[in-house]
Amino acid sequence: MHLRAPAGTEDVLPERVAAWRRVETAAREVLGRCGYREIRTPVFEYTGLFARSIGDATDIVEKEMYTIPRSSAAAGAAPDAASDDEDTLTLRPELTASVVRAYLEHGMHKSRPFQKFFYLGPLFRRERPQKGRLRQFHQVGIEAIGSRDPLMDVETIDVFVRLLGAVGVIGSTVNLNSTGCRECRGVYRGKLSAHLRVHEGALCENCRRRLDRNVFRVLDCKVKTCQPAIAGAPPITESLCPACAAHFGAVQEGLKAAGVPFVLNPRLVRGLDYYTKTVYEVTSPYLGAQSAVGGGGRYDNLVEELGGPPTGAVGFAIGLERLLIAREAVDETARKGASAPPALAPAEAVSDLYVVAVEEAQRGAAFRLLASLRSATLRADMDYDARSLKGQMRSASRAGARVVLVLGPAEVAAGTVQLKDMAKGEQRGVPAEAAAEEAKRVLGLS
Ligand code: AMP
Repeated sequence: MHLRAPAGTEDVLPERVAAWRRVETAAREVLGRCGYREIRTPVFEYTGLFARSIGDATDIVEKEMYTIPRSSAAAGAAPDAASDDEDTLTLRPELTASVVRAYLEHGMHKSRPFQKFFYLGPLFRRERPQKGRLRQFHQVGIEAIGSRDPLMDVETIDVFVRLLGAVGVIGSTVNLNSTGCRECRGVYRGKLSAHLRVHEGALCENCRRRLDRNVFRVLDCKVKTCQPAIAGAPPITESLCPACAAHFGAVQEGLKAAGVPFVLNPRLVRGLDYYTKTVYEVTSPYLGAQSAVGGGGRYDNLVEELGGPPTGAVGFAIGLERLLIAREAVDETARKGASAPPALAPAEAVSDLYVVAVEEAQRGAAFRLLASLRSATLRADMDYDARSLKGQMRSASRAGARVVLVLGPAEVAAGTVQLKDMAKGEQRGVPAEAAAEEAKRVLGLS
């Protein structure tokens, strides 16, 4: 049997984890600085949560959700978990619904209605895998729940841009639009349908179906033959009610005042039904066909639709895989530029210290020394494979160790150890019990 990871999933091997961590650390730092607190929700939820929030007629709910059939959900369930039978379980395809569910379930709408959350974690969508489009992918995102202030929309966009800056993704474009409220959308739905009906013959099969089910989705279509009809469609901004138009105006003013560049994109609709008023998507020239690094918007009806009080909310989600692709493409471009410095950081050392046993007989003592170094908070390791001195020294250098401690029969007998400073090429004997302190001195840690 040929074993491999499922289509649309990726292993992040140890060499790549450092890049992931850098992005995650930068994101946590920026979001913490801006007042967002981390929330962690389960990777699966009752299916109804997503069907109700994302919308029945969206691609995600129609065909991309990983739903565990009821029979198998029940088979593994404990007897007292009978409530699982009420609904199937679905691997989360996005996180906004989960965050709102948690907000309501824990009564935050009563105790402290204004909350700013961030999250970071895996999501699952049964999509056709390609570069930048996976079946398990990761997002970092924020949700600011409890405010209708246009400045809140501005803050989320500003935070998005800050985050891109912090991870070194330059040259992105903020595309901005407003999808209005229920009333504006009702008016617009009529105008858009009327326009698209005229061009129905030119639309792809999917879009013809969307005409009846969810006409806004047509604006999202990438099929070539649909583009003339989409380009000629009336912009939704012409159908905004006075309140939505004022909100949209205030967001644009706020962005200008904050010095956040944006472009208006009247065709921008996001793939989920819950958005109201502001929507945005950030695209990067460093990504291929899947050019959106992330997107977001306001969702003023969702808290109420999930059983809470009317509550304004706005948030975004950024794809971490795409953020990393963009980051690496920026580095690559900089490397090609004549004046650009080498952008890749040197390979990270795995260990600062390495313990080497000259003979098999000293391996036990070597392990005891290693354990004591680790207890002294040093990043230390030894070789569990190579037996020759040369082989162990090669492993030490591969690990990036700056200090090697060598134990031979004479050292074990005398209670000492040879401390080798790899940078200087110097070696001297030190008492075994002082090895940690001596090593710290050489490493500049004391
Ligand atoms: P969405 O929730 O669809 O607006 O997605 C927000 C961001 O998540 C996108 O801009 C991508 O960066 C990322 N994303 C969405 N779907 C996928 C996927 N299937 N594979 C990789 N990244 C994705």
